[in-house]
Amino acid sequence: MTNPGGKYQLPLPARMGLAAEFYRYCKAHELRFQRCTDCGAWRHLPRPMCPECGSFNYQWARASGRGKVYSWITVVQPMLPAFNDAVPYIVPLVDMEEGVRMVAMLEGVAPEAMHIGMAVEVYFEDATPEITLPRFRKAR
Ligand SMILES: [Zn+2]
Repeated sequence: MTNPGGKYQLPLPARMGLAAEFYRYCKAHELRFQRCTDCGAWRHLPRPMCPECGSFNYQWARASGRGKVYSWITVVQPMLPAFNDAVPYIVPLVDMEEGVRMVAMLEGVAPEAMHIGMAVEVYFEDATPEITLPRFRKAR
């Protein structure tokens, strides 16, 4: 998602609180989700409390980066002018191996080739010197 000059041009996510921690690991090209250190439950999006047992204890555990497409949208009408050159693009909702669901843009798959259950994997795009974004691609 860069322009011909190589500069990333799409809006960047807010990076505050626990989301900032998530993106710090992305910067290191590591996909990590919170995992409760009391009951072992994984969670994503980042939040303070375990939805299974109510514990506030967790670690940032390394995730496999692999999952299967649960559903997706193909965006054909840009919501902001910055996305004019990006459409059509695909945003899947992915069931990750750890049991959480994750959303990120999918690259390299034509809209007509999408199907439920498609195996995908995370890779990382260094969007700016400050932020690296997780992306999905078809699993290799
Ligand atoms: Zn728990």
